[in-house]
Amino acid sequence: MNLSEILKQIDDDIHSLSPQELKNKYLAKNGLLPNLFENIKNMPVEERKDFGSKVNEIKKLIEENIENRKTVIEDMKYEEIDPSAPFDINTKVEKRPRILDLKGSSHPLMQELENILDIFQRMGFDVMESKQLDDDFHMFESLNFPKGHPARDMYDTFWTEDGFVLPAHTSTMQNRALRRYGPPPIRVVLPGRCFRNEATDASHEHTFYQIEGIYVDKGISLAHMQGTIKEYLERYLETDLEIKVQPSYFPFTEPDTEFVISCPFCEKKGCSTCGYTGWIELMGCGMIHPNVLIAGGIDPKEYSGFAWGVGLDRLTLIKRGINDIRKLRDGDLNFLKQF
Ligand SMILES: [Zn+2]
Repeated sequence: MNLSEILKQIDDDIHSLSPQELKNKYLAKNGLLPNLFENIKNMPVEERKDFGSKVNEIKKLIEENIENRKTVIEDMKYEEIDPSAPFDINTKVEKRPRILDLKGSSHPLMQELENILDIFQRMGFDVMESKQLDDDFHMFESLNFPKGHPARDMYDTFWTEDGFVLPAHTSTMQNRALRRYGPPPIRVVLPGRCFRNEATDASHEHTFYQIEGIYVDKGISLAHMQGTIKEYLERYLETDLEIKVQPSYFPFTEPDTEFVISCPFCEKKGCSTCGYTGWIELMGCGMIHPNVLIAGGIDPKEYSGFAWGVGLDRLTLIKRGINDIRKLRDGDLNFLKQF
């Protein structure tokens, strides 16, 4: 390439080549500019000065361009990160959150769930986990809510566009448990996540855990239900309790009841946990409706049983003295560190 060809080319090259490519093409030992300088000694003396200063101008242009682009690239240089890694892997040590100071522990809800399942397993119950996406049959129909039943509105259910439902209670598992563990005796607890389309406040969440339980055998009565639930709660709360069973309404039990315990914190004198009443309404329960037994392949003339559903979050709040259910899910390390 002679000087005039280079002058035509240089503008394109500056815009299309990387600094390293520019350097290799123009400035390196066998590059275009040193070659031009080589030719200078074969030129007439009067042309040398003009030629030399033009080549030097090009050289300066390229060098400046390379230098400028280097600074831009340096300014743009970010630390290399692994976008697939957890947050703390990509964060400099001094900026890492205090999670590194923690030894690591399971979430308080999971700790309580383990305690509760342990108690039930020692009482002879099986454990079967519930599903996080279910269908109309298990959410409603198998539980004696036929289509159009007004009690369906009691549950603010989330539906998917293709007709599946996010379980609003763990009773969705009753039919499966009756079929899987039948014929009786059936003793099973069914923990799982539930979802309700409702506004949140200190005692309501859109997502929570429930623990369903069912007990079916010959000659089972409300007395067995009261004894079983009381025994479990006394073991769990590690104190003696007085209990009351008061009327309630669920389509899938008959009779329908609510289990009320004496406040384990104030001996019925009244405190903030029990809302100054001395009693805590803890869970819905009742004798399983004959239609639910039939749907589960169990003959209600031969067998009877009871069921309950209790909120794990509620129990955790009571047991740990936490005053706001939302704290269990907002991921605040300062809060979780206490457990
Ligand atoms: Zn109290």
